[in-house]
Amino acid sequence: MPGPNRNLPALRRLARFARAMARLSADRRVIALLVIFAMFLAGRAWLAENPGSNPWAPLDLNDEAGWATRAKIAALRDDPAQCRAVLERSEVAFTSLDPVGEAPCLREYRTRLDGFPYAGDRPDTTCAMAAALEIWRRDSVQPAAQEIFGQDVARIEHFGSFSCRRLYGRDEGPWSEHATANAIDIAGFVLEDGTRIVLIEDWDREGDKARFLRRVRDGACQAFGTVLSPDYNAAHRDHFHLDQHSRGLGGVCR
Ligand SMILES: [Zn+2]
Repeated sequence: MPGPNRNLPALRRLARFARAMARLSADRRVIALLVIFAMFLAGRAWLAENPGSNPWAPLDLNDEAGWATRAKIAALRDDPAQCRAVLERSEVAFTSLDPVGEAPCLREYRTRLDGFPYAGDRPDTTCAMAAALEIWRRDSVQPAAQEIFGQDVARIEHFGSFSCRRLYGRDEGPWSEHATANAIDIAGFVLEDGTRIVLIEDWDREGDKARFLRRVRDGACQAFGTVLSPDYNAAHRDHFHLDQHSRGLGGVCR
């Protein structure tokens, strides 16, 4: 016996639509088709103005993020060449560095963001990390700082991106994303007026600094594959671990 046809409701709707069209007089049929065509054109125009919600538009970090943006950023994790094209198209200042190291700590497609407000040294990361850091800065860090403190973040403090080691520095088990600089640990933020917001001190306090840290943690989940905060475990009490481990569209956000 054949199984139930899953397309049946759609076919029924189509048949209903065809019957309704057949009942219309000729000029009304023309008007109905014109209305449908106009709706199609309006939809196309809307997608052209909202490339962030258009899954076919090439990713440009200058465009406002839409519902398709997250999937496009996730796709860059497995496509470094496309990732560099995105940074170029978006006019992000970056330097492509030569590969170094050997597997499992081989760093290919090393990318250094030249305009990113790193405090201290300027680490290189994978291209996918660089693109996500830039999106996070634009769409989450600066808007949250403006809204809560009325000023920009001037510097972002970090504990580095590259470390050739396994997870939690164990002797066996899976390698850390830090082993390929596909991760970074963020420790704090310095506002333009010099105010410091650091995870180790401000995460558990009440007030604007804690609110800011939670906002940028949640914002990071829109750009990175993995976000681990002090909420996750004691090992992360003083930093956000951000990485671009490839997990399709799903992510870890704790
Ligand atoms: Zn980390």
